[in-house]
Amino acid sequence: MTIAENVALVRENMDRAALAAGRDPKEILLLAATKMNDADRVRQAIAAGVDLCGENRVQEMLEKQAQGAYAGVPLHFIGHLQKNKVKQVVGLAELIHGTDSLELLSLISRVAQARGLTQDVLLEVNIGGESAKSGFAPEEVPEALARAAALPALRVRGLMAIPPVCAAPEENRPFFLRMQQLFIDNSEKKYDNIRMDFLSMGMSGDYTEAIACGANLVRVGSGIFGPRQY
Ligand SMILES: *Cc1c(COP(=O)(O)O)cnc(C)c1O
Repeated sequence: MTIAENVALVRENMDRAALAAGRDPKEILLLAATKMNDADRVRQAIAAGVDLCGENRVQEMLEKQAQGAYAGVPLHFIGHLQKNKVKQVVGLAELIHGTDSLELLSLISRVAQARGLTQDVLLEVNIGGESAKSGFAPEEVPEALARAAALPALRVRGLMAIPPVCAAPEENRPFFLRMQQLFIDNSEKKYDNIRMDFLSMGMSGDYTEAIACGANLVRVGSGIFGPRQY
Protein backbone atom coordinates (compact mmCIF):
# COMPACT_ATOMS: atom_id res chain seq x y z
CA MET A 1 0.00 0.00 0.00
CA THR A 2 1.25 3.47 -0.84
CA ILE A 3 0.96 6.39 1.54
CA ALA A 4 -1.80 7.83 -0.66
CA GLU A 5 -3.75 4.56 -0.53
CA ASN A 6 -3.37 4.41 3.24
CA VAL A 7 -4.61 7.97 3.66
CA ALA A 8 -7.63 7.21 1.50
CA LEU A 9 -8.40 4.11 3.56
CA VAL A 10 -8.04 5.95 6.88
CA ARG A 11 -10.38 8.66 5.58
CA GLU A 12 -12.94 6.07 4.53
CA ASN A 13 -12.83 4.50 7.98
CA MET A 14 -13.07 7.91 9.64
CA ASP A 15 -16.07 8.89 7.54
CA ARG A 16 -17.83 5.63 8.24
CA ALA A 17 -17.21 5.95 12.00
CA ALA A 18 -18.46 9.54 11.96
CA LEU A 19 -21.65 8.68 10.07
CA ALA A 20 -22.30 5.68 12.33
CA ALA A 21 -22.09 8.06 15.30
CA GLY A 22 -24.44 10.54 13.63
CA ARG A 23 -21.62 13.04 13.14
CA ASP A 24 -20.54 15.14 10.19
CA PRO A 25 -17.29 13.63 8.81
CA LYS A 26 -16.09 17.12 7.90
CA GLU A 27 -15.75 18.10 11.55
CA ILE A 28 -13.03 15.51 12.19
CA LEU A 29 -9.42 16.31 11.39
CA LEU A 30 -6.79 13.80 10.35
CA LEU A 31 -3.35 14.55 11.76
CA ALA A 32 -0.44 12.59 10.28
CA ALA A 33 1.90 11.58 13.11
CA THR A 34 5.08 11.94 11.08
CA LYS A 35 7.78 10.83 13.51
CA MET A 36 10.60 8.85 11.90
CA ASN A 37 9.31 9.57 8.40
CA ASP A 38 11.46 11.78 6.20
CA ALA A 39 10.45 14.98 4.45
CA ASP A 40 9.61 13.18 1.21
CA ARG A 41 7.19 10.80 2.92
CA VAL A 42 5.64 13.66 4.87
CA ARG A 43 5.04 15.50 1.58
CA GLN A 44 3.35 12.41 0.15
CA ALA A 45 0.93 12.34 3.09
CA ILE A 46 0.14 16.03 2.63
CA ALA A 47 -0.40 15.53 -1.09
CA ALA A 48 -2.79 12.69 -0.22
CA GLY A 49 -4.88 15.09 1.82
CA VAL A 50 -4.09 14.85 5.54
CA ASP A 51 -5.25 17.97 7.40
CA LEU A 52 -2.30 18.43 9.75
CA CYS A 53 1.14 17.13 10.60
CA GLY A 54 2.29 16.35 14.12
CA GLU A 55 5.84 15.77 15.32
CA ASN A 56 7.13 14.27 18.56
CA ARG A 57 10.73 15.31 18.71
CA VAL A 58 11.93 18.88 18.52
CA GLN A 59 15.18 18.21 16.68
CA GLU A 60 13.47 16.09 14.05
CA MET A 61 10.80 18.75 13.60
CA LEU A 62 13.38 21.50 13.09
CA GLU A 63 15.27 19.44 10.52
CA LYS A 64 12.21 18.58 8.48
CA GLN A 65 10.85 22.09 8.81
CA ALA A 66 14.11 23.38 7.31
CA GLN A 67 13.51 21.00 4.39
CA GLY A 68 10.03 22.41 3.83
CA ALA A 69 8.40 19.11 4.73
CA TYR A 70 5.19 20.56 6.14
CA ALA A 71 4.35 23.06 3.44
CA GLY A 72 0.62 23.34 2.92
CA VAL A 73 -0.70 22.19 6.30
CA PRO A 74 -0.46 23.38 9.91
CA LEU A 75 2.21 21.79 12.07
CA HIS A 76 1.44 20.54 15.56
CA PHE A 77 3.75 19.31 18.30
CA ILE A 78 2.34 16.09 19.78
CA GLY A 79 5.26 14.78 21.84
CA HIS A 80 6.29 15.27 25.42
CA LEU A 81 7.65 18.82 25.55
CA GLN A 82 10.65 19.30 27.80
CA LYS A 83 10.98 22.70 29.42
CA ASN A 84 14.38 23.33 27.86
CA LYS A 85 12.87 22.90 24.38
CA VAL A 86 9.95 25.28 24.80
CA LYS A 87 11.75 28.14 23.05
CA GLN A 88 12.20 26.05 19.92
CA VAL A 89 8.58 25.01 19.68
CA VAL A 90 6.62 28.14 20.62
CA GLY A 91 5.55 29.94 17.48
CA LEU A 92 6.68 27.11 15.19
CA ALA A 93 3.98 24.62 16.16
CA GLU A 94 0.51 26.04 15.69
CA LEU A 95 -0.81 23.81 18.46
CA ILE A 96 1.09 22.04 21.25
CA HIS A 97 -0.87 18.93 22.28
CA GLY A 98 0.98 17.60 25.27
CA THR A 99 1.02 20.27 27.95
CA ASP A 100 0.99 18.42 31.22
CA SER A 101 1.89 20.79 34.05
CA LEU A 102 1.19 24.31 35.27
CA GLU A 103 4.90 25.08 35.11
CA LEU A 104 5.03 24.13 31.46
CA LEU A 105 1.95 26.23 30.69
CA SER A 106 3.38 29.31 32.36
CA LEU A 107 6.74 28.83 30.67
CA ILE A 108 5.06 28.58 27.26
CA SER A 109 3.11 31.74 28.01
CA ARG A 110 6.25 33.60 29.09
CA VAL A 111 8.16 32.65 25.93
CA ALA A 112 5.19 33.50 23.72
CA GLN A 113 4.65 36.82 25.43
CA ALA A 114 8.29 37.80 24.97
CA ARG A 115 7.81 37.20 21.24
CA GLY A 116 4.52 39.04 21.06
CA LEU A 117 2.45 36.03 20.13
CA THR A 118 -0.22 33.78 21.59
CA GLN A 119 0.46 30.05 21.71
CA ASP A 120 -2.39 27.57 21.33
CA VAL A 121 -2.18 24.43 23.46
CA LEU A 122 -4.18 21.37 24.48
CA LEU A 123 -4.12 20.05 28.03
CA GLU A 124 -2.94 16.47 28.16
CA VAL A 125 -5.06 14.27 30.41
CA ASN A 126 -3.68 11.11 31.98
CA ILE A 127 -6.98 9.37 31.46
CA GLY A 128 -5.79 5.92 32.51
CA GLY A 129 -4.22 7.22 35.72
CA GLU A 130 -0.95 5.60 34.70
CA SER A 131 2.08 6.45 36.80
CA ALA A 132 4.42 6.15 33.80
CA LYS A 133 2.43 8.68 31.77
CA SER A 134 2.32 12.43 32.00
CA GLY A 135 -0.76 14.61 31.96
CA PHE A 136 -3.24 16.17 34.32
CA ALA A 137 -5.50 13.87 36.29
CA PRO A 138 -9.10 14.31 35.10
CA GLU A 139 -10.06 15.99 38.39
CA GLU A 140 -7.18 18.48 38.00
CA VAL A 141 -8.46 19.79 34.67
CA PRO A 142 -10.86 22.49 35.99
CA GLU A 143 -8.10 23.98 38.16
CA ALA A 144 -5.59 23.81 35.29
CA LEU A 145 -8.04 25.65 33.02
CA ALA A 146 -8.59 28.34 35.64
CA ARG A 147 -4.82 28.81 36.01
CA ALA A 148 -4.26 28.76 32.26
CA ALA A 149 -6.94 31.42 31.86
CA ALA A 150 -4.77 33.77 33.91
CA LEU A 151 -1.78 33.40 31.58
CA PRO A 152 -1.49 36.26 29.11
CA ALA A 153 -0.01 34.64 25.99
CA LEU A 154 -1.58 31.23 26.00
CA ARG A 155 -4.86 29.93 24.65
CA VAL A 156 -6.20 26.51 25.60
CA ARG A 157 -7.99 24.96 22.62
CA GLY A 158 -9.05 21.63 24.10
CA LEU A 159 -7.88 18.33 25.53
CA MET A 160 -5.71 15.43 24.39
CA ALA A 161 -5.20 11.95 25.72
CA ILE A 162 -3.31 8.75 25.08
CA PRO A 163 -5.22 5.93 26.79
CA PRO A 164 -3.42 2.86 28.19
CA VAL A 165 -2.21 0.28 25.69
CA CYS A 166 -5.03 -2.25 25.43
CA ALA A 167 -5.26 -5.66 23.82
CA ALA A 168 -8.27 -4.66 21.72
CA PRO A 169 -9.47 -1.25 20.54
CA GLU A 170 -12.90 -1.65 22.19
CA GLU A 171 -11.13 -1.74 25.55
CA ASN A 172 -10.22 1.90 25.07
CA ARG A 173 -13.84 2.92 24.86
CA PRO A 174 -14.31 3.59 28.61
CA PHE A 175 -11.29 5.92 28.54
CA PHE A 176 -12.50 7.70 25.42
CA LEU A 177 -15.98 8.08 26.90
CA ARG A 178 -14.51 9.52 30.06
CA MET A 179 -12.55 12.02 27.96
CA GLN A 180 -15.69 12.94 26.06
CA GLN A 181 -17.51 13.68 29.32
CA LEU A 182 -14.56 15.67 30.67
CA PHE A 183 -14.46 17.66 27.43
CA ILE A 184 -18.18 18.42 27.63
CA ASP A 185 -18.10 19.32 31.33
CA ASN A 186 -15.14 21.65 30.94
CA SER A 187 -16.48 23.27 27.79
CA GLU A 188 -19.17 24.94 29.84
CA LYS A 189 -16.74 27.20 31.67
CA LYS A 190 -16.30 30.55 30.03
CA TYR A 191 -12.86 32.06 30.09
CA ASP A 192 -11.56 34.58 27.57
CA ASN A 193 -8.58 32.59 26.42
CA ILE A 194 -10.09 29.14 26.52
CA ARG A 195 -11.96 27.68 23.58
CA MET A 196 -12.62 24.00 23.82
CA ASP A 197 -12.45 23.29 20.09
CA PHE A 198 -10.39 20.12 19.95
CA LEU A 199 -10.67 16.70 21.50
CA SER A 200 -7.46 15.01 20.30
CA MET A 201 -7.56 11.25 20.78
CA GLY A 202 -7.32 8.08 18.73
CA MET A 203 -4.30 6.58 16.96
CA SER A 204 -3.86 3.93 14.25
CA GLY A 205 -5.30 1.11 16.32
CA ASP A 206 -8.32 2.88 17.75
CA TYR A 207 -9.23 6.05 15.85
CA THR A 208 -12.67 4.76 14.86
CA GLU A 209 -13.46 4.06 18.54
CA ALA A 210 -12.25 7.56 19.41
CA ILE A 211 -14.51 9.08 16.74
CA ALA A 212 -17.46 7.13 18.13
CA CYS A 213 -16.69 8.85 21.45
CA GLY A 214 -16.44 12.39 20.16
CA ALA A 215 -12.83 12.84 19.02
CA ASN A 216 -12.53 15.58 16.41
CA LEU A 217 -8.80 15.26 15.82
CA VAL A 218 -7.22 11.83 15.39
CA ARG A 219 -3.46 11.27 15.27
CA VAL A 220 -2.49 8.50 12.87
CA GLY A 221 1.09 7.37 12.23
CA SER A 222 1.64 3.76 11.21
CA GLY A 223 -1.81 3.56 9.63
CA ILE A 224 -0.56 6.10 7.09
CA PHE A 225 3.17 5.41 6.84
CA GLY A 226 3.39 1.71 7.74
CA PRO A 227 5.37 0.35 10.69
CA ARG A 228 8.15 2.60 11.98
CA GLN A 229 11.72 1.32 11.62
CA TYR A 230 13.33 1.83 15.04
C1 LIG B 1 3.25 8.20 17.34
C2 LIG B 1 2.08 8.89 17.90
C3 LIG B 1 0.82 8.73 17.35
C4 LIG B 1 0.54 7.80 16.19
O1 LIG B 1 0.74 6.47 16.56
P1 LIG B 1 0.34 5.27 15.58
O2 LIG B 1 -0.03 4.17 16.48
O3 LIG B 1 1.53 5.00 14.76
O4 LIG B 1 -0.81 5.76 14.79
C5 LIG B 1 -0.23 9.44 17.90
N1 LIG B 1 -0.04 10.26 18.95
C6 LIG B 1 1.14 10.43 19.52
C7 LIG B 1 1.28 11.36 20.67
C8 LIG B 1 2.25 9.75 19.03
O5 LIG B 1 3.43 9.90 19.61
